Amino acid sequence: MQIDILTVLPGLFSGPFDHSILKRAKEKSLLTINLHNLRDYTNYKHGQVDDYQFGGGAGMVMMPEPLANAIEKLSATTKYDDIIYMSPDGQHLDQKTANHLSLKQNLLIICGHYKGIDERIREHFVTREISIGDYVLSGGELPAAVLVDTVARLIPGVLNDETSALFDSFQDNLLAPPVYTRPANFRGWQVPGELISGDPKIVEEWRHNESVKRTMQRRPDLLNNQEE
Ligand code: SAH
Repeated sequence: MQIDILTVLPGLFSGPFDHSILKRAKEKSLLTINLHNLRDYTNYKHGQVDDYQFGGGAGMVMMPEPLANAIEKLSATTKYDDIIYMSPDGQHLDQKTANHLSLKQNLLIICGHYKGIDERIREHFVTREISIGDYVLSGGELPAAVLVDTVARLIPGVLNDETSALFDSFQDNLLAPPVYTRPANFRGWQVPGELISGDPKIVEEWRHNESVKRTMQRRPDLLNNQEE
């Protein structure tokens, strides 16, 4: 999979993308991430990419021209399955969307700043708008990093034990069961007997029951979505 990211702050990504699972995905050549600095696509002086908003009011808006230049130039060499704009008013990111996007070949992600990007870019280029939650961040970089992480770990071959993602929370609309590791007795707090029974059927049944119990307690809304 190839993910291109359009940003005014490419440096923000060096931390999250250079460790752990994302690093491994890149090393295994299962994922290529290209960072593109929007300022390289502006014809305005001093790398200007934003301007005052029409109608007045506080806050700058990202100008359409540099964005359109960049999107068109990148699209000339890569056929994007989706051009995604990270936005608080977009569709909420969930596991279903992550699963869906993990099967794509090429994605372009646009990170906004200030008051956001000129609406005409959203109308004419963007094919999908994604929010990571009902709160406002100062830029689209952290949301984009969240999206890339959740999608990348689902690309077949990225996780060592390929089946492990299948048992994460939200797959099958259930929360994950509690997990334990050694020692079996820590300060007198015991690991549930089922998990150390050595019987895979008993373990599986316990995990499923705990998943259902936890989902009913914490997120009953997920159980009502079973049919989707
Ligand atoms: N004025 C806008 C917010 C702009 S925040 C509004 O009220 O909707 C600046 C940029 O940060 C946005 O363009 C977007 O790319 C990013 N951003 C902020 N919060 C986000 C969220 N919850 N999900 C995804 N992107 C977000």
